[in-house]
Amino acid sequence: MRLRTGLLLLLLSAAGVWFYGYPGSGDRVEIRPNEQCVRLYRHVTGEVQTLPLEEYVTGVVAAEMPALFPVEALKAQAVAARTYVLRRVYAGGVANNPHPGVDVCDDPRHSQAYLSRRELKRRWGLFNYYRYYYRIRRAVGDTAGLVIVYQGQLIDPVYHASCGGRTENAADIWKFDVPYLKSVPCPYDANPRPVEVRSFTLAELVQALLPEAVAAASGGNFEIALVKTTSTGRPKEVAVNGTLLPATAVRERLGLKSARFTWKVEGDRVLFTTVGYGHGVGLCQYGAKGMAEHGYDFRAILEHYYSGVQIVKY
Ligand SMILES: [Zn+2]
Ligand SMILES: [Zn+2]
Repeated sequence: MRLRTGLLLLLLSAAGVWFYGYPGSGDRVEIRPNEQCVRLYRHVTGEVQTLPLEEYVTGVVAAEMPALFPVEALKAQAVAARTYVLRRVYAGGVANNPHPGVDVCDDPRHSQAYLSRRELKRRWGLFNYYRYYYRIRRAVGDTAGLVIVYQGQLIDPVYHASCGGRTENAADIWKFDVPYLKSVPCPYDANPRPVEVRSFTLAELVQALLPEAVAAASGGNFEIALVKTTSTGRPKEVAVNGTLLPATAVRERLGLKSARFTWKVEGDRVLFTTVGYGHGVGLCQYGAKGMAEHGYDFRAILEHYYSGVQIVKY
């Protein structure tokens, strides 16, 4: 029985070689002469891997977007992922890179998520792996070498899961203006669970949102007021017991899905309702899914979310 399972696995991995033209089934990847490579820092192992660009892009798309999203959405994600890393490769390690000497890492808070083929097999299981990896690999291959530029320069193609109906201006969220990261409508946002409600006690909120000394002096008192909104109407700044806080800090400290939130006091609890998932700037992944389902191709999707850009061969 064990022998038969072994034989089946052997046949499947042979099929894998045939499908993808890659040797073996582990993390070892051949690098051809003069191939564009990416230096990737892996957080779990602490090692630096050198990967062919398109192999890296495939691992990012697989980690950042559900494999069964429409092909045009996967292609848009592939072009964004490739642009993101090449901008860093050419900059030779941008100024705020937390890992000097490498181009990117695999932590989505620092960079883009990435999963190797071995990790994807574990996540998806062997049978889905062959279906899903092939799908993503093809989306990457169909856009090979394509990048997004603004006035001839590679852009910083930030993206998020779901904007909730309208994306945000970079200037409203991060305090710096980026000409191609402007608020645009997102009419087809296909997020299946756009709204989330979280309930907190007053004590939990005071403790999470205020510095210790201020929290101690509040005597259990809690007041929250909207001070400023972004141009699209999401909160930008709130006052908690008189202390000013950016909405992004409230989101972070309460672990909310987005900073597009409203609240309602009910007795000694406060209900926070969020719409969307993520910072809301740049490409909206569920919006890309919706646009693809409505017949838009990856170029139209990217040109919609990144204002005034062009898609070119790098
Ligand atoms: Zn990192
Ligand atoms: Zn959206």
